[in-house]
Amino acid sequence: MIGQLIDGTAIAAKLRAEVAISATALRERGIAPTLAVVLVGDDPASAVYVKAKTKAAREANVDVRDHKLPATTSQAELMALVAQLNADPAVDGILVQLPLPDHIDERVVTTRIDPDKDVDGFHPVNAGRLATGLYGFVPCTPLGCLMLLKDQLGDLAGLDAVVIGRSNIVGKPMAQLLIKESCTVTVAHSRTKDLSSLVRRADIVVAAVGRPEMIKGDWIKPGATVIDVGINRPTPLADGSNGGLVGDVDFAGAMQVAGAVTPVPGGVGPMTIACLLRNTLVSAHRRARVSYDKDAM
Ligand code: NAD
Repeated sequence: MIGQLIDGTAIAAKLRAEVAISATALRERGIAPTLAVVLVGDDPASAVYVKAKTKAAREANVDVRDHKLPATTSQAELMALVAQLNADPAVDGILVQLPLPDHIDERVVTTRIDPDKDVDGFHPVNAGRLATGLYGFVPCTPLGCLMLLKDQLGDLAGLDAVVIGRSNIVGKPMAQLLIKESCTVTVAHSRTKDLSSLVRRADIVVAAVGRPEMIKGDWIKPGATVIDVGINRPTPLADGSNGGLVGDVDFAGAMQVAGAVTPVPGGVGPMTIACLLRNTLVSAHRRARVSYDKDAM
């Protein structure tokens, strides 16, 4: 059996087009959806991510307020900016790009963002809302994974799912979303024994570990759907090239047995950005007192 490729780029493009239409409609009502993007310091990877998010937002008719701060910015200065953005009624979403420089406590910054503008979904209030089934912002990467799964499988109720990784931004919210969809969910992590046999039982595998091609093709249950969140840059080859990005799943091996697999790149990554825009639109609709796509929350 050869698995189907889940085209995250195409599904994300569709979502971004829907966001653009809704953003235009809101503008006609006098509300300009606005995302504030805060970047502290010169981390090159963060600069690339912020550039991609900003470009995608502008293409979707979402205004972006760029706040580029030097690496020497103090925690108090960053808090003051967050407070100012919280209080600004024209700002719908606030994104503080992580990681922050070492002298700034990320957890404190995350908890200072107004939960109703927390379009990354990292605030403990939003984590609690997700865990208790209340309306709130869901972190963009697991939300994107869920959209890919629903697009591929439709109703997920009763399926066995294994989520590999228990981070606050991917693994845990992913597990919560799958529980909400009535899957039977196992969360595996660095201390899990016999990971391969857990994966062999799963109809859905979500891999969010950060270890290149750790999940082998012969671990996958025939016909399973595999979502590969991992982004790994392999060690450079002899010729100096890095051989491209790879995920946490042995893609070629998984394609031999799975029903469907996301590629890296071109799977989960584009969905993360599209879901950030979608969350910003949800917030802007709330400001305009118009409902928007509540089902996905
Ligand atoms: P993390 O380092 O916070 O968490 C990794 C998790 O993997 C931990 O919970 C750990 O317990 C688990 N783990 C480690 N070794 C393991 C093992 N041998 N067996 C089972 N579990 C093990 O990472 P994260 O932030 O959750 O990100 C995970 C991966 O997803 C990374 O590669 C990251 O770059 C990628 N990522 C991609 C996107 C995207 O948009 N595509 C977004 C976020 C993260």
